[in-house]
Formats: sequence, structure tokens, C-alpha cells
Amino acid sequence: LNTLKDKNLLKKIGIMGGTFNPIHYGHLSTAEHIREKFELDKIIFIPSSDPPHKNYSLVIDKIHRYNMCVLGTYTNSNFYVSDIEIQRGGKSYTVDTLTEIKQIYTHSKVYFITGADALCEIETWKDVSGLFQKAIFIGATRPGFIFEKVKDQVSYFIQKYNAQIFFEKVPLLDISSTELREKIKNFQTIKYLLPEDVEKYIDKYKLYR
Ligand code: ATP
Ligand code: MG
Repeated sequence: LNTLKDKNLLKKIGIMGGTFNPIHYGHLSTAEHIREKFELDKIIFIPSSDPPHKNYSLVIDKIHRYNMCVLGTYTNSNFYVSDIEIQRGGKSYTVDTLTEIKQIYTHSKVYFITGADALCEIETWKDVSGLFQKAIFIGATRPGFIFEKVKDQVSYFIQKYNAQIFFEKVPLLDISSTELREKIKNFQTIKYLLPEDVEKYIDKYKLYR
């Protein structure tokens, strides 16, 4: 990332954090939809190291997750993958990642993309006020999301933290990594739910079996 010549010319950077265990079309179509809608110059996918909110034993090697992110995004000229969380190691906290990103992209606006459900639980994350200071948050709404239910909470975030929050309805792709891992384990097809190259990679290394 440090070697990118255009780093300070970019104005709007989207950050897509996640376990990506594995990356799938839900992540990719969400990122692409938001990139276009918010006119972001690029989206950086950042696979986590040891995820703080998940049972660690269920998450396969971070290098595999990183490689699958690269394979899943290389055909999109606006998509990049960063290993900053993997390099940092230990538990990955979004606030630390945003601090690093802000140091690299000093003149850019940073947008953090996350599921609307996760966004509503942001007070369980490390340093909430730091998070809202460093980035504009975009909550991607998944099937069944009702804005009325979170309206009060959002106003509270805005008042308390001076937060900048958007909700964006993304094309409904009801795919989750959990469901994919289950399917692989049960020898069911995962075709058309994730990029073919990622599928081949999973086959090659016999992941999730
Ligand atoms: P898991 O089932 O293991 O929790 P996941 O499919 O939810 O995996 P994550 O890596 O946890 O994937 O998600 C990364 C980000 O992508 C999160 O912000 C999550 O809310 C969002 N996301 C995941 N699946 C979808 C989907 N189908 N559509 C839109 N956003 C999604
Ligand atoms: Mg999830």
C-alpha cells in the first residue's frame, strides 16, 4: 500500500473489513454497489487476523483467507486487498486499522463499509469515538433490515459521537461464509455463490473439509 504512487491523490477510499472465510459474491456485489453509489475511488478489502468476535478455531489460516480475497477481487480494477491486519497480527481492531489507513492516505476521505447489523453493535468495538472520528460509516442492509428499528440508535450515535453514518440498501444476495463452509463440508455445490477462482483454490487446498 505504501508504494502506491496515487495514494494522496485519491479522495474517497472504501474499506471493507471482514473475516472473508471465504470471500463470496455477497461481499463483492456489496462493495461494487457502494463504490459506484458513493463514487469511491477504490475499495480495499482487509481480511482480519484473529477475529475478536468469532470462535478462532473455526477460522482457517489467514494467509488462505488473504489469498482468496486476492483471487476474488483481481478482475476489478478498483478493488485491492491489504494485509495490514494480518501483518499486525493478534486481534484485529478496526480502529487500529483505520489509524494506519489514515496515516497512508492522509488526504483521503475514508469510508468504512460494514453490515448494518454489525454497525448497530459498534459500541462493543474498541474505541467507538475513535472509529467515528476516523471514518464515515456505511451500513449495508441485508434482507429483512428495517430502518425504523435502528433509527433511535443512529440518532444517538450522531449526537454522542458526531458520527457520520449512511445506510445503503444493497442488492439482496443472501449468501454467508458460514453457509458456504457448511455446504463444502457436506460436499454440496457452491457454484455461482463465489468467484470460480476462489472455488478452485478451496478445492486445491481442501479447505473447510
Ligand atoms: P460468516 O458467515 O462467517 O459470519 P459473512 O458471510 O458474514 O461470514 P464476514 O467476513 O463476516 O462474512 O463479513 C464481512 C462483511 O461483509 C461484514 O460487514 C458483513 O456484514 C458483510 N456481508 C457478509 N455477507 C454479506 C451479504 N451477503 N451481503 C452484504 N454484505 C455482506
Ligand atoms: Mg458475518
